[in-house]
Amino acid sequence: MGGMNHTSSASDTNPLLAAWTGPFELPPFASIKPGHYRPAFDRTLAAHRAEIEAIAADPAAPTFDNTVAALERSGREVDKVANVFFVLTGADTSDEIEAIERDISPLLARHNNALYLNRPLYARIADLYGRRETLGLDAEQARVLERYYTRFVRAGAALEKPAQDRLATINERLASLGTQFGQNVLADEKSFVMLLDEGDLTGLPDFARAAARAAAEERGQPGKYAITLARSSVETFLQFSSRRDLREKVFQAWIRRGETGGTTDNRAVIAEMVALRGERAKLLGFASFADYRLDDQMAKTPAAARELLDEVWGRACARAAAEKDALQALIAKEGGNFALAPHDWRYYAEKLRKAKFDLDEAEVKPYLQLDEMIEAAFEAARRLFGLRFTPVAAPLYHPDARAWEVTDAHGGHVALFIGDYFARSSKHSGAWMTSLRDQEKLSADVRPIVLNVCNFSKPAAGEPALLSFDDARTLFHEFGHGLHGMLSNVTYPLLAGTAVPSDFVELPSQLYEHWLEVPQILERYARHAGTGQPMPKPLLDRLLATRTFNQGFATVEYTACALVDLDLHTLSDANGLDVTEYERRDLERIAMPPEIVMRHRLPHFQHLFSGGGYAAGYYSYMWSEVLDADAFAAFEEAGDAFDPATAKRLRDYIYSAGNLREPKAAYEAFRGRMPKVDALLRKRGLTEVRG
Ligand SMILES: [Zn+2]
Repeated sequence: MGGMNHTSSASDTNPLLAAWTGPFELPPFASIKPGHYRPAFDRTLAAHRAEIEAIAADPAAPTFDNTVAALERSGREVDKVANVFFVLTGADTSDEIEAIERDISPLLARHNNALYLNRPLYARIADLYGRRETLGLDAEQARVLERYYTRFVRAGAALEKPAQDRLATINERLASLGTQFGQNVLADEKSFVMLLDEGDLTGLPDFARAAARAAAEERGQPGKYAITLARSSVETFLQFSSRRDLREKVFQAWIRRGETGGTTDNRAVIAEMVALRGERAKLLGFASFADYRLDDQMAKTPAAARELLDEVWGRACARAAAEKDALQALIAKEGGNFALAPHDWRYYAEKLRKAKFDLDEAEVKPYLQLDEMIEAAFEAARRLFGLRFTPVAAPLYHPDARAWEVTDAHGGHVALFIGDYFARSSKHSGAWMTSLRDQEKLSADVRPIVLNVCNFSKPAAGEPALLSFDDARTLFHEFGHGLHGMLSNVTYPLLAGTAVPSDFVELPSQLYEHWLEVPQILERYARHAGTGQPMPKPLLDRLLATRTFNQGFATVEYTACALVDLDLHTLSDANGLDVTEYERRDLERIAMPPEIVMRHRLPHFQHLFSGGGYAAGYYSYMWSEVLDADAFAAFEEAGDAFDPATAKRLRDYIYSAGNLREPKAAYEAFRGRMPKVDALLRKRGLTEVRG
């Protein structure tokens, strides 16, 4: 709208600020232009600030309604704009959108800081919290009040002004260090490329050759083959290349990302971040950052998280030792005269897998069609929760995105589900669930609009889209997160859907992966794209039998990272930290097998330092895996993967319950007891130590 200088209100011209009255009240994507975002953010953030000030300065004594519920009713227009914007930054971005994102992110961070460090507002919440027993609140209201109180305290609202100022400085410094960390890793990944000729490709299957040729072309080297440090490129090469020298070369570059000594070296960044996190935790009254972080998680203490990791660690190492022996034997059998090295593991494991299970990815793929796997995920939701999915025509942000209306057994509207499955250059890598609108009942009966975004290969026109088994698992995983959002049934937005602690949020998603593998689903939906025939039983059996293969390696690679993360963030003094030496000594302490390297070494451990969402929280994946394995065992014990009584408890206490209860209470209500680690050990094949 540049150049217009008449004085009509912005909502006349900015579709982000208008009421959305189209199908399913979706945003009018077609009329939203990048130039609309900044003015929409400026306007809605200012409006939210005014709402917050009015609540904080209310001359009336604090009540639940004029303070907590008022906060819950505030900021809706910001959410509306931000939801659209962040769906696009992930799924359909552009240089223009990215520039706006760099602009907007610190603005939103400052907005949040100002909210949670607002002392008069905190005083009202603390006053209510102090007399919460006398307010006549129902259970959900009491939970919302407790969550607000805890959030304000954890942000530093109760501290004196000088400490608050220091916190704000630390937060801003950590934000810019986190950005720098990620950009350094990306720079190291971009600067390395191993250019090969046809003759260097021994062992590589066709799909890997095609990808390497495309990567070289993209870098202006047509006719050559490029191996890059992207995980998919380097791992495929390590798995299939019979050139030991080249495997070593690319592996060394891969594990040295962020540790190359130049301007992109991350070690000083890490030392400063760990020290600042420790200082912040101490300002807030905790012994260490890990203590601070876990206090508001299901695990509660670093000791509880470490107890689980230790229990798994010993068994995983024993299992990995047996796997190593089998790989070393294979090397000897082939006449090799060298000790298995980290850059050999994936190559010999792949050989052994083929020999043991006679399983070829190319044989499985034609049976896993994207559209059939989507139907399979829907069918499991129908059997478990009575949901129906009807394709609908809806105006979305990209032609590859599709929409389904989700209804209950009586035809009542439950949610709108959007699936955006194909990779494209405007999409970030990975797979995730997100939403355009969350469920609530405070202002009205608002039903959610939920998205699954994936990066499956798009087939040529007229060809069916085929998935690997891992892809199919990813589809079920994200759909599990999606159900957590779609089935949400709470009153207050703060508690809706996936707004739960991060060591609990992977339960609904990891649990849902189990239904991909139940016979009623796989036998019906795994059908050959050409012949329509179901997957032959022997192939299905071999596929399922490989699940525990090489799990010693995978578990060691992961668990070492989780242990080092916890140790590092439990340090009481991190000033002058030598990151390389620290990592070496900590791995020595836990007796890391020398043939395995951490899945993410500290200098490129983005979960911990690029943003920091998983700092002192990398254990969460395994914590959730204990829950999902134990939860699925409830169905096995009932003798039916869709047992109605178990499914009802699962819906009532997990999938529809958002953050209504403490995770421990929610889990116990579903299962009748606390989780046990046994099912996880069985799932990973760690109960027996033979390779
Ligand atoms: Zn997930």
